[in-house]
Amino acid sequence: MSYIVLARKYRSQRFDDVIGQDPIAQTLKNAIKTGRVAHAYLFAGTRGVGKTTMARVLAKSLNCLAADAPTVEPCCKCDSCTAVNLGEDIDVIEIDGASNNSVEEVRKLRQNAIYRPARARFKIYIIDEVHMLSTSAFNALLKILEEPPSHVKFIFATTEPNKVIATIQSRCQRFDFSNISAKLIAGQLKSILEQEKIKYEDDLILPLAKMANGSMRDGLSLLDRLISTGVEPLTVGLLEEFLGRPNSEKIYNLAAKIGDSDAGGTLAAIEDLISTGLSEVQIVDSLTDYMRDLMVIKSAGGESELLILTAEQRKLADELAEKFDIAAIIYNITALEKLRWAVKNSDTGRALLDALLLRLALSEHFSNVDQLLSQLQGGATTVKKKQPTSIKNKAANEPLRLPPDEIKQRSRNREGAVEGRETRDERRETSNEHRESKVENQATSNEQRGKTRSRRTNEIINDPAVKTVIIGLDATITGVEED
Ligand SMILES: [Zn+2]
Repeated sequence: MSYIVLARKYRSQRFDDVIGQDPIAQTLKNAIKTGRVAHAYLFAGTRGVGKTTMARVLAKSLNCLAADAPTVEPCCKCDSCTAVNLGEDIDVIEIDGASNNSVEEVRKLRQNAIYRPARARFKIYIIDEVHMLSTSAFNALLKILEEPPSHVKFIFATTEPNKVIATIQSRCQRFDFSNISAKLIAGQLKSILEQEKIKYEDDLILPLAKMANGSMRDGLSLLDRLISTGVEPLTVGLLEEFLGRPNSEKIYNLAAKIGDSDAGGTLAAIEDLISTGLSEVQIVDSLTDYMRDLMVIKSAGGESELLILTAEQRKLADELAEKFDIAAIIYNITALEKLRWAVKNSDTGRALLDALLLRLALSEHFSNVDQLLSQLQGGATTVKKKQPTSIKNKAANEPLRLPPDEIKQRSRNREGAVEGRETRDERRETSNEHRESKVENQATSNEQRGKTRSRRTNEIINDPAVKTVIIGLDATITGVEED
């Protein structure tokens, strides 16, 4: 027997089964009950969120032969219902706007629409990807929308509603389909696995649902691929092996090295991820996701429902979050977002990736953004484009002399500043000369302890190529341009 893909096999049949679109289902049911069904609907939303499914449910409800009038509970067994389910009904015509986008197609549609339905109450046109119609096809469509025969209904679906011309939109009742939450997708995946009697480990479900990115269809097709490996039970390891999901341990390791301010470890962790075949952009995306998890832990606690992590991952992330302050995490996410763009548009993506992640790991060695901005705002008359030069000097010189104890001290100072306290130490930080000499003194006294790590860090930081990239990124992130 041939394999039917899960998305087809488990397509929702009734309004109450359509997952994640309850308000739309409810509104349509009310319209049917009160006899206020519109002539034309526009279903907007990303792919795989249930637009076509909802269109078919609506068509069945309007045309079900088992009822005397449109019903909110189509029988799903009569000739009309079964034909609609297969997309083969004579009165419910499904058109793919992408391949039938010419004006001739729409004219043909208009000519056919005049004739009454063959066996059901309505002639229903479901036009998928309606935004793909040509302008002349849209205009032809508009003619019939202006004065539609009473037996005709239109259901348009689109992933790009902004491309549907306004005159069409204004003649439709529009519904915006939301992305489906990972929790709802997870529930459906579980229920299907149980119905299919396929063994799986619980830890698999949420990460798999998360990979679907709000699309039920994508979630089910990922599950199809996992099932086709023939491996049982299905485990989270298979996501990494067969579906290209970044290894979560390796991503954690990278974040941990950044949290530990371990420059060498950070570079090694990047290399480790690259060697599994991930692209730079995928690494940035995964790390951004991870930083987001840390941000949630910091602001909503480790038990937050917003986290999609297994118990073990939750524990690790909870511990790791201790090493970051919330301002640093937010900064990191912003920086990673900029980096993603830069990496995508660069021929030297790997160097950028290495440099920025080092920048995050060694953030104590650099002025942080808050400080930078307050410097800019504080001295608006004197500071303008010159300011980055002093930042540049700082970036280049500081790490040479900063032992770990001083790093910790300054890190504490900065946390104080985030909370709004202005400490003496903080004020001292703004005075360049003063601090330089203090750093010098401490450096001598703590020389032994800081020596090994400082040297390694300095070698990396003082690499001219790395310096240039870091300073460039700083300028991009803070919106300050170099002269
Ligand atoms: Zn029926």
